[in-house]
Amino acid sequence: MALIPCTACGHTISTEALSCPSCGHPGANASRGGREGVARIAGTVAGSYISAQMLASIIVGSVAIVSFAAIMIAVILAG
Ligand SMILES: [Zn+2]
Repeated sequence: MALIPCTACGHTISTEALSCPSCGHPGANASRGGREGVARIAGTVAGSYISAQMLASIIVGSVAIVSFAAIMIAVILAG
């Protein structure tokens, strides 16, 4: 772990930081990991627009749909 200046604002940030705590610019760690990094940036961006409550209801909704589908498949196979 080392400290580097943010490329956007010059604020000193950790190389392990996903984004600059001062300006939010993605850190070295965020751009390093290919798909995982992109997913993290997308998650951060989505997080600014989607509230935690909305996200929770989406997750609960997805779980309910998957559970319903699993029950239907079980019923079809049993019948
Ligand atoms: Zn910055």
